[in-house]
Amino acid sequence: MEIRGDVSLAPFNTLGLDVRARRLVTAVSREDVRDAARLARAEGWPLHVIGGGSNIVLTGDLPGLTLRLALRGRSLGGQMITAAAGEDWDSLVDFSVSAGACGLENLSAIPGTVGAAPVQNIGAYGVQLSDCFEGLQAYDRETDRFVRLGPGECGFGYRDSVFKSSARARFVICEVTLRMSATFRAVIAYPGVAERAGRNPTPEAVRRAIIAIRREKLPDPVRCPNVGSFFKNPVVSTARLTALHERYPSMPAWPEGDAHKLAAAWLIEQAGCKGAGCGGAAVSDLHALVIVNRGNATPADIARLTAEIQARVRENFGVGLEVEPDRLP
Ligand SMILES: Cc1cc2nc3c(=O)[nH]c(=O)nc-3n(C[C@H](O)[C@H](O)[C@H](O)COP(=O)(O)OP(=O)(O)OC[C@H]3O[C@@H](n4cnc5c(N)ncnc54)[C@H](O)[C@@H]3O)c2cc1C
Repeated sequence: MEIRGDVSLAPFNTLGLDVRARRLVTAVSREDVRDAARLARAEGWPLHVIGGGSNIVLTGDLPGLTLRLALRGRSLGGQMITAAAGEDWDSLVDFSVSAGACGLENLSAIPGTVGAAPVQNIGAYGVQLSDCFEGLQAYDRETDRFVRLGPGECGFGYRDSVFKSSARARFVICEVTLRMSATFRAVIAYPGVAERAGRNPTPEAVRRAIIAIRREKLPDPVRCPNVGSFFKNPVVSTARLTALHERYPSMPAWPEGDAHKLAAAWLIEQAGCKGAGCGGAAVSDLHALVIVNRGNATPADIARLTAEIQARVRENFGVGLEVEPDRLP
């Protein structure tokens, strides 16, 4: 295990923020994961786990030890696909579709690593990871052991899991197993998907359609650094939605259990924030839910713009916006 000191994390977060890690370990094996976690514990250092850095907002330099998951390897056996945490998520989707294994095609082109996928139960276009999740292997920092967790232990919800709440920072995910389907059931009800993929599409056609739609709608983090959706869609009660609809009849909303979800992008746009900026940070012209780094954004620029958007949406609609990506440290 190699420990590098005082390393810029600019290449390791898709928002491109140039903050520094006091120490960085790039783990290529389970032993690296265990050794790094043990060292951090023995030294009393905070441990920050990252994958592809596409769902984190770095608020400043990271003290302690940053552990970047780069374990590699993937296999398909029967209907199961197993992949190491450091594998690129979209390459795994491509691999599964090419092998004739179905179920992941709607999750095409989501940036990031396999190991991070269960953390927020990644989802898109009517499918989420939990639909085909079989289990994972993780290092348990509490017991200093490698453990296997099944779906029942992961507490998956909408963009949520125990890894974001009750077991936050406890497990370092090293490997994920997914159950593929031999028979293809196309999920194409989402607006625009059937139009592009056709009425009786193949998994390849669905994958191509999703990639094309995403390219049109979302700024590419490689050319325009960002972390995808910056805010969660707020959830409100029926009474609150009725009151909002009296004042704003065109406000989009859709059911979420007993409550209702509002479109954060609509709220941001209507509050006049599209195109707003603070220093090097700006709201994307392409999608109001995305904050982009125009080239030299600092964590302070991101924080100021975040606060301004939240304040404007609250002033206009009385609705609070919660940041979606994980803020480190
Ligand atoms: C342009 C764009 C579009 C996106 N679209 C979608 C979308 O459609 N749907 C969606 O769900 N998400 C989307 N995202 C968010 C992001 O791609 C996912 O959350 C992805 O799973 C993050 O992977 P990562 O490896 O980059 O994780 P990171 O950003 O490195 O980490 C995210 C969180 O997971 C933790 N973590 C990472 N790896 C591990 C591990 N091995 N063990 C334990 N904890 C770990 C980190 O500590 C952090 O809390 C999008 C992001 C971008 C930039």
